Amino acid sequence: MKLLLQVLRKIFFIDLIQGMAVTQGYFARKKVTVQYPRQRIDIHSRAEYLPEKNLYVEGSGRFRGLLRLMKNPQTGEELCTGCGLCMRICPDHCIEVVGEKKAEGKGRRHQSFKLDIHRCMFCDLCVEVCPTGAIVSSNEYELATYTRDDFIYEIGTLYTQPPITRYKK
Ligand code: SF4
Ligand code: SF4
Repeated sequence: MKLLLQVLRKIFFIDLIQGMAVTQGYFARKKVTVQYPRQRIDIHSRAEYLPEKNLYVEGSGRFRGLLRLMKNPQTGEELCTGCGLCMRICPDHCIEVVGEKKAEGKGRRHQSFKLDIHRCMFCDLCVEVCPTGAIVSSNEYELATYTRDDFIYEIGTLYTQPPITRYKK
């Protein structure tokens, strides 16, 4: 009986018809793809950059774009303590950080912070392990550049918008 049903399905192209019905259903739905770079979607990341304040604020998205360092949105103080946890957990060895004692007051800060983004696989482990929320994924994804050196981000560019070449529409 089962074999007969399988034969009948093949004779009457039942599987093909079912497949075409699914395809037809998607024709009528709203498109989710965009014609990049002519169209760009508004990607929400965990952190939104406020250029006028040079600060990041927490967002609710899950997109993992270029990593950035954050400052305290209230005080403008750098959040990174230079503890090196992100450097140790990174499976691709993208991060090099050196910590030092703060010149004034208690606590530690980063003396240097280097991110080699061309080795980064955007796994977000560094973000998850950071005890102070100093490193976050931004919504920046247009990272193509002409030289390898441009993929190395240091403190200066990690706190500000790096000079990314935007493709023309
Ligand atoms: S996102 Fe992953 S691969 Fe990229 S720097 Fe962080 S830990 Fe390393
Ligand atoms: S970004 Fe976070 S985990 Fe990495 S050194 Fe700074 S405080 Fe530590």
